[in-house]
Amino acid sequence: MREPVTARDLVDGLRQLGLDRSSSVVVHSSLSSFGYVDGGAEAVCAALTEVCGTVLMPAGSWMLTGLPAPPGLVRPDNAFWNAENWPEFEEKVSQATSFRADLPIDSWLGTIPETFRQTCAPLRTEHPLFSYQAAGPAAERILAAQRPDWPLGPLEALEALDGDVLLLGVTHTSNTTIHLAEQHLGRSRFYRYAKAANGLWTEFPNIPGESHHFDSLEPVLRPITKEVRIGQARVRRIPKQAVLSATRDLVEADPAALLCTDDPTCRCAAALQQRLAALSN
Ligand SMILES: [Zn+2]
Repeated sequence: MREPVTARDLVDGLRQLGLDRSSSVVVHSSLSSFGYVDGGAEAVCAALTEVCGTVLMPAGSWMLTGLPAPPGLVRPDNAFWNAENWPEFEEKVSQATSFRADLPIDSWLGTIPETFRQTCAPLRTEHPLFSYQAAGPAAERILAAQRPDWPLGPLEALEALDGDVLLLGVTHTSNTTIHLAEQHLGRSRFYRYAKAANGLWTEFPNIPGESHHFDSLEPVLRPITKEVRIGQARVRRIPKQAVLSATRDLVEADPAALLCTDDPTCRCAAALQQRLAALSN
């Protein structure tokens, strides 16, 4: 039987990474990666807000608000599916929920973001597909950087604060900052659809795409990654600026970097075409 992870273990581990009240972090997380945590997700959230200054987390409610593309609306290199006909689309709109600040956060983001929302009363943005939440002194400023047409704005604002990416037991496949660097180079910019209000749907641009090959960035980032083990979890802190510049260097050298190239139906293929189109402009 392994020892449970305690609140003290969590706080000590985060401090060993050099985090303190001046730190601003975006957190991607897996509660189960720790093993048994005394106090569960709430203990993890409490440790983050105790140690760090500003804590940013994803807060998307895509599973509730998301829609297929309307019939016939096909954007180039968009790798998405359309409703077959208008009655089917209208039915999807009626089944979906329009965004509210109290909607639960998608479970595929892990249980920690939803617990953070419930227990730390963070501020939350209103993007129906790509909401973010944050607590701490810079929360308002970071979240104000999101626009409906620029969902990853909070990650850009975090860069300006010399922020860090904090991976709690997850890999770089969860590291959305890599998508931000791609988007700066015209790649991984997809159009997606959400219910905006009753009977009303909206198209949102610049939604990021596939990340299943992102862990190939890990060796490049290893020299500037700080890492500790907390329970069973591998906890890593990487300066945001380093993630952005390493991704930029790779994609500028090879438009297909960090993408799979063996599956023409994957969103990676569409992202590559977007990059090639940006290069030819
Ligand atoms: Zn792929």
